Amino acid sequence: MPKLADLTEVMARLSDAIAAVGEGLGVGLLLVRAANHRAVALNSGVFAADRLLTECEKLIAGALRSQDSFFRIGDADYAVVTNGVIHAGQVALAAQKLLRLAETPVRLDEASIQLRLIVGAAIFPIHAGDAESLVNAATQTLEQCVVTKRAFLMRERVPAADSVRVLQIEQLLGRAFERGELYLCYQPKMCISTGILAGAEALSRWDSIEMGSIPPDEFIRVAEQCGRIQQFTWAAIHSALEQASRWRERDLHVPIAVNISPICLRDPDFLERMCRALKIWGAPRGLLTLEITESAMMEQVDATFDLLGKLRAEGVRISIDDFGTGYSSFAYFKMLPADELKIDKSFVSNMLAAEADRHIVRTITELAHRFGMNVVAEGVEDVATLDELRRIGCDTAQGYLFAQPIPPERFEREVIACVERAQLPAAAEPA
Ligand code: C2E
Ligand code: CA
Ligand code: CA
Repeated sequence: MPKLADLTEVMARLSDAIAAVGEGLGVGLLLVRAANHRAVALNSGVFAADRLLTECEKLIAGALRSQDSFFRIGDADYAVVTNGVIHAGQVALAAQKLLRLAETPVRLDEASIQLRLIVGAAIFPIHAGDAESLVNAATQTLEQCVVTKRAFLMRERVPAADSVRVLQIEQLLGRAFERGELYLCYQPKMCISTGILAGAEALSRWDSIEMGSIPPDEFIRVAEQCGRIQQFTWAAIHSALEQASRWRERDLHVPIAVNISPICLRDPDFLERMCRALKIWGAPRGLLTLEITESAMMEQVDATFDLLGKLRAEGVRISIDDFGTGYSSFAYFKMLPADELKIDKSFVSNMLAAEADRHIVRTITELAHRFGMNVVAEGVEDVATLDELRRIGCDTAQGYLFAQPIPPERFEREVIACVERAQLPAAAEPA
């Protein structure tokens, strides 16, 4: 059960976590409130309200990873500190996991009560530069949940200079499509045991006349926020399928992978639009892989798993991107509707230096194989890492060791011309 603490104590713990945080990692703070605690005390008595809190604490404890900690900081308020945050989605996923667990009503003798949680989150160093501002940021976000009646909010990015840039990107993005400033680069995926080309991942690039080259992480986030992500994603899917069909006309069979933002999976017409796109470009089964991050997969699990199962039945392969950074549990592992698992580059690039990361790569590989999935290691930059991956039994490697993401003409000259090509990978058979 959590330690009763005041905010000063939580702040001290956060300061320690921030001081010890590794490069490129963050510390997340989630403030969790059992929002209906008082109402339950009034309507059903203090005994029932206490039981509600006990259940709430069990639920938080069950959702935490070993490196996370949590404190009771008020009547019905809790602080959860998550270490080793790789990206904001990870913290959002932890919050969503809590909310999902809270959906099951709490049984109290005869009756049952619904626990209503609200969660406000902020992350060092994205939203705050030290422990105190992190606590302030998370507190304000929790209050925003109350005002806006939202169950979960993540602190918005704040710095003024940043918001001007976001606005500029938003304005230029619309024109970027018309001006043809957006295009795809391709990075090879190589079969480790044979050295044969296994496929190519399409990665978006934007060379803006006004702002220069803008990293995809940044403009995709803006596209998601300003409602252009659908237009953007479908342009990428059609462009990649067109490229693959051009290669196929010249007898070059290169399976391609496209990254899909989670927002697109919420579109009720996604499956139909995908079938249409495959037909337009005459794509054979197994040609197209959709890369979906682990955190996106775990949002609205039932609906997402259902859609992915249907896509696989249409011959589309599903790959789980950035695997290892999310909160998916072993319970879901056996049900994952996926053909491929991509181990996040943070584990791969650190594999030779850290035994723990090597264990993670080995364990994920063995487990994925047991469930019939292909394993891709991303971020392979040197031969020693490739050798270790081969020893571990990993199937496919991707990274600067082979090539950076490059435009299609260069991909033809420098990759396709130089290595052998594989047959199309197996795609799930129609249900
Ligand atoms: P991702 O899907 O995890 O893509 C892998 C990223 O790692 C790419 O960054 C790639 O250039 C980089 N990378 C590849 N090999 C190595 C290596 O050996 N070492 C290191 N350090 N990095 C390597 P990039 O192209 O900047 O893309 C960043 C992210 O932006 C992608 O991460 C993906 O999440 C997103 N993204 C890119 N294009 C698209 C797109 O068309 N749609 C969507 N939804 N997301 C995209
Ligand atoms: Ca990817
Ligand atoms: Ca990745």
